[in-house]
Amino acid sequence: EHISSHLQRLWSPEVRTLEPYVPGEQPKIDNLLKLNTNESPFPPSPKVAEAIIKVLNEHAEPGNSLRLYPDPDASALKQAIAAQQQLSVEQVFVGNGSDEVLAHIFKAFFIQDKPILYPDISYSFYPVYSQFFNLKVIQVPLADDFSLDVTGYQQPNGGIIFANPNAPTGVFLPLDKIEVILQQNPDSVVVVDEAYVDFGGQSATSLISKYDNLVVCQTTSKSRALAGLRIGMAFAQPHLIAALERVKNSFNSYPMDRLAIAGGVASFEDQAYFEQTCQQTIDNREQLVAQLTELGFEVLPSKANFIFTQHPQYAAMEIAAKLREVGIIVRHFNKPKIHNFLRITIGTTAQQNRLVARLGEIC
Ligand code: PMP
Repeated sequence: EHISSHLQRLWSPEVRTLEPYVPGEQPKIDNLLKLNTNESPFPPSPKVAEAIIKVLNEHAEPGNSLRLYPDPDASALKQAIAAQQQLSVEQVFVGNGSDEVLAHIFKAFFIQDKPILYPDISYSFYPVYSQFFNLKVIQVPLADDFSLDVTGYQQPNGGIIFANPNAPTGVFLPLDKIEVILQQNPDSVVVVDEAYVDFGGQSATSLISKYDNLVVCQTTSKSRALAGLRIGMAFAQPHLIAALERVKNSFNSYPMDRLAIAGGVASFEDQAYFEQTCQQTIDNREQLVAQLTELGFEVLPSKANFIFTQHPQYAAMEIAAKLREVGIIVRHFNKPKIHNFLRITIGTTAQQNRLVARLGEIC
């Protein structure tokens, strides 16, 4: 959307320099198959809706509980998360989606004299926040096979952030490599963004008690199918969580609304449903990889709820455009090194069969 420089004169100079962030599109098309923003194809645990409806009916009039402010500490949610993660409540921070949690992390730890480091191919919000907070950045190139080379991550008194599994590649970095990064950087906070860790990856939360410079960030948006409820969390030793709480309290002392707290608690209490839908996503991923390989696609090894793939004979942008004509949306990044790749979210078997049938016609 174009806003004239005359109207932009009312903006702060800092905001005038910001490029608008372009999230994955959310078009309204009939019979749309949306495989572009890594949402879950499965509904959340049925207990989530039950818990939310209960909150709405708590007082005599429907919705009357919404008159009241929520618990500023979201204690019930922190307790449910801590129990599921086998952490103490003091090691848990919650916010409105991990995008907000990441903003607090940048503010709390990365505004330093020294640069922050992240991979040159990584989650697109890191550059956005870096620009917003005026940070110096070093983008460390991934290896040719898209793996992260830990030797490039040495940064005293700065910060380090990477997604694991990485976005948009889906490639997973084993925990022993993460330990090397933590040991190389005792005076920098190292943030592991685990938005996609529940689909066969291994979480770095097991390292929290060992490293006082580690922050692990997770979300309920993917593996718990709650992208619409906006619940993100960070795990770390209490001295780092305390810094995040200070930042949060200076912006908004109510991180979560009543419905999100109730729905989130119900989700974390339903471990069986969570495990079952994560396993189904992994099974569907393996099936999609096999189907695409059959069509001549090359697929990077993924531990996420998406795959990153290219076809040696067909341009990714053209494939994406042709899919769009038939109401199937996948993600294409017009960026160096990855412009011939497509990122495709794992769907239900029926959705994936529809995709594969179309790809068979295109390729
Ligand atoms: N981190 C990564 C790597 C992501 O891909 C996403 C989702 N776009 C997020 C964080 C943010 O997720 P949410 O704000 O929905 O928790």
